[in-house]
Amino acid sequence: MELSELNPPPRLLLGPGPSNVHPRVYRAMLAPVIGYLDPAFLQLLSDTQVPLRAVFRTGNELTLPISGTGSLGMEAAIYNVVEEGDTVIVCINGFFGSRMADMARRCGARVVTVEADWGRAIEVEQVEAALRQHPGAKAVCIVHAETSTGVLQPLIDIARLCRERGALVIVDAVTSLSGAPLEVDAWGLDVVYSATQKCLSAPPGMAPITFGPRAVEAMQRRREPCRSWYVDLTMLREYYGGPRRYHHTPPMSMLYALREALRLVLEEGLEERIARHRRHASALWAGLEAMGLRLHVEDESLRAPPLTTVRVPEGVDEARLRQDLLERHGIEIGAGFGPLAGKVWRVGLMGYSSQPQNVLALLHALEVELWRQGCEVPRGAGVEAAARVLASGDA
Ligand SMILES: *Cc1c(COP(=O)(O)O)cnc(C)c1O
Repeated sequence: MELSELNPPPRLLLGPGPSNVHPRVYRAMLAPVIGYLDPAFLQLLSDTQVPLRAVFRTGNELTLPISGTGSLGMEAAIYNVVEEGDTVIVCINGFFGSRMADMARRCGARVVTVEADWGRAIEVEQVEAALRQHPGAKAVCIVHAETSTGVLQPLIDIARLCRERGALVIVDAVTSLSGAPLEVDAWGLDVVYSATQKCLSAPPGMAPITFGPRAVEAMQRRREPCRSWYVDLTMLREYYGGPRRYHHTPPMSMLYALREALRLVLEEGLEERIARHRRHASALWAGLEAMGLRLHVEDESLRAPPLTTVRVPEGVDEARLRQDLLERHGIEIGAGFGPLAGKVWRVGLMGYSSQPQNVLALLHALEVELWRQGCEVPRGAGVEAAARVLASGDA
């Protein structure tokens, strides 16, 4: 048997991730693979930790890329901190909060959940009540940008509260890193992880993570070893720094990709990059609303610029519309799931995908496909409204 030539179709990736990979990142991945103990590779590893700290806005020494996707970053965060018998508070207002709870349970923790509807933020009072009921709680887990709902969770007050009560804050910043404001040190976040394929616009495969001093202390006080061998930081840190002892072979090509992606962030400027995500999301929101569509997260201040949830209008076949966007326009958007299944579409404007022409292309394609299904949205109104926001430059 012969395999045909590899030929994935060109796609505009406007879903919940991955985002389109920047051409310079692809180019970096062609660099030759070298040994994991080659001084040149070790230097490259160290070099990459410096911009990672800049992007996380932290001075944390223990800041490194985990070899795996965002979910492995989540495991690294939770498995290193949480032990059998610990009480852990997990905030759940979407899909990824539930995944954090699942992982904490697998570590043998007693999990206390604090919940909000999919599309709403967790209130600081809820966390306060949970901490009052469980004063010995070791950690609070929370998602910054919930990719399943489009909510950007305010973290400052919750983090401050956790510090006062002696609980660690573990934050999922998979979709927010370099796409929304995130201040690891200034906000006092203890463990924060992300992934390469969302706003960093590299392929999936690496999970940047950072551990603050309180988290390092908690790891040093562990009664039993981390239940995951692969993400055990006591071993990983001896390869990423210190004695450079072999642990696993890091995917070199992915490290090259991450390095180039970080170089692109620094060139653009972190603040400008975050402002770009905000500007293009605002244009998208204005366009969708001008078409008469409704955004699922009503409070604009709680919307995550990298991911927008838009309600499916009455009478529209949501799966068919997504399929037509993909097949007729080459555009991928995401479906809703859990309680939002069939009710929303998820539109990502992440990293390299967050560009003005992509906003306009999507709004136009959406209009065409809605009409084909008999949903007569005002002609041209979406593109017009978005273009106005893009031109005003003050979004
Ligand atoms: C995508 C995502 C993850 C999981 O990352 P994978 O790379 O798919 O393993 C975790 N949390 C959030 C908020 C995400 O959006």
